[in-house]
Parts: sequence; C-alpha cells; structure tokens
Amino acid sequence: MLWVLNSLRMRTDILPLCDQHFRTMEFVLAPYSADRSIEFFRCTDKFCHRCFGERVGYTTPKREDVPVLTPNQPVCDRHGRPMFIISLDRQRNQVTYACSEADCTERVIRT
Ligand SMILES: [Zn+2]
Ligand SMILES: [Zn+2]
Repeated sequence: MLWVLNSLRMRTDILPLCDQHFRTMEFVLAPYSADRSIEFFRCTDKFCHRCFGERVGYTTPKREDVPVLTPNQPVCDRHGRPMFIISLDRQRNQVTYACSEADCTERVIRT
C-alpha cells in the first residue's frame, strides 16, 4: 500500500512541515520487502497520519487504498514535483512551499 508514496530514494535533508499541524515531519524508512523499503515523511503528532512523499505530496494513507492526492497540493513548475511546506509565518499566516529537487528555488506562498 505505502509503496505508492515513493519508490525512489528520497532526500532526507529536507524538513517538511505537516500541512495540517505545521509540525516538523520525521523521516520514516519502512521495510516493504527484502530488497525494498519505502521512504517518506510522517507528522510527529501521534494522532495525525499525514505523510509527505516526494512523488505524491501530502497524503493520508489508508490501508489498501491508493493515496488520495491533496487537491490543492502545489507542484513545482519546473520539475512537476509536489512541493512541501518549508516554513510557516504565523504572524502573517503565510505558508511557504518549496520543491524537493536539489537546488530548485521555486517557491509558492499560500495564505
Ligand atoms: Zn499533522
Ligand atoms: Zn523544482
């Protein structure tokens, strides 16, 4: 089920924030089979099941289900990749999304 989140090695130096709690997400490496594992980020809130995968962006995986893509998930114009939340400005209530591609400077600001 979770393999859809990501099947390639993903960057571990990015720190996405949960798109619901704006908490820092943690990197998870889940064994999938003998020669394969799944890499994604997960919200550190115990009751939150939000994940961020490099290919699908933010999703809440459910057993047996194909992850439901977040409809307003920003995507990088240059790379076509789902973007992650890199920072939150609580004063201005602004969320900044960044591309997970190394050296990509694309940013999307949402309020
Ligand atoms: Zn969360
Ligand atoms: Zn990009």
